[in-house]
Amino acid sequence: MKILILGGTAEARQLANRLVEAGHDVITSLAGRTSDPILPAGGLRMGKFGGIPGLAAYLRIAGIERLVDATHPYAGQMSVNAVAAAQSAGVPLVRYMRPAWEQPVGADWLIVNTAAEAAASLPANAEVLLTTGHTGLGAFLERDDCQFLVRVIEAPAFDMPRHARLLLSRPPYSLIDELGLLEREGITHLVTKNSGGGQTAAKLEAAQRLGVKVIMIARPSYGPAREVASVDDAIAALELDA
Ligand code: NAP
Repeated sequence: MKILILGGTAEARQLANRLVEAGHDVITSLAGRTSDPILPAGGLRMGKFGGIPGLAAYLRIAGIERLVDATHPYAGQMSVNAVAAAQSAGVPLVRYMRPAWEQPVGADWLIVNTAAEAAASLPANAEVLLTTGHTGLGAFLERDDCQFLVRVIEAPAFDMPRHARLLLSRPPYSLIDELGLLEREGITHLVTKNSGGGQTAAKLEAAQRLGVKVIMIARPSYGPAREVASVDDAIAALELDA
């Protein structure tokens, strides 16, 4: 089978490696945002498709028989495009995405849809741990009546204003680390995306234990597709013997 995987995640790489091992003709597509990405087994294409028509044309011309959307949960535009392009080209689509975190009973979460809404919801003088990455950072930094600790893997291309500090670090984080950080920094609000998975989940437990308010930016909606949450389920859902 000729399979196109929309990638950019560890999940996409794991799936590509398994499908190549099983003898399938796999191409992973990367947006090209990272200069030195970890590469999966199989073929690779880099760069945008040119919206829904571009992806639909690629599916037809390359003779793709199965499409897997294994992009990051917040790469919402690509996922929307995948639904429409798969339908237009008549190619079965499987969405492979790690499950969202569920709000535990008793946890103090405010769920919002955008970074701008999250920024607007912060009270004056909030001490904020911001873990939402580079996208939407500007909306938060406009709030100069709050203090921000901005935890990112790579520094943004601009200097932080006076009311913000960078914390450069890379997951995974343990519960002990997160409890220590929130306490040491006197954090009152944690702003996060609902990335799911185990690597960064400890901050939510730490926030609940310490009474830190969580502002959760919800996942975008992508449209209908068969959705799975593990490599094995993705392989089964692809119906490669059909
Ligand atoms: P996005 O906002 O959904 O996509 C913007 C545009 O970039 C898409 O419309 C598409 O352009 C192109 N694109 C996105 N993913 C692509 C892919 N795998 N192959 C080819 N073109 C792609 O996505 P994003 O948030 O910029 O993320 C870009 C990539 O980084 C994704 O592959 C994602 O898995 C990865 N990533 C994102 C995040 C995050 O937090 N957003 C985190 C980790 C990894 P056209 O419409 O012109 O085809």
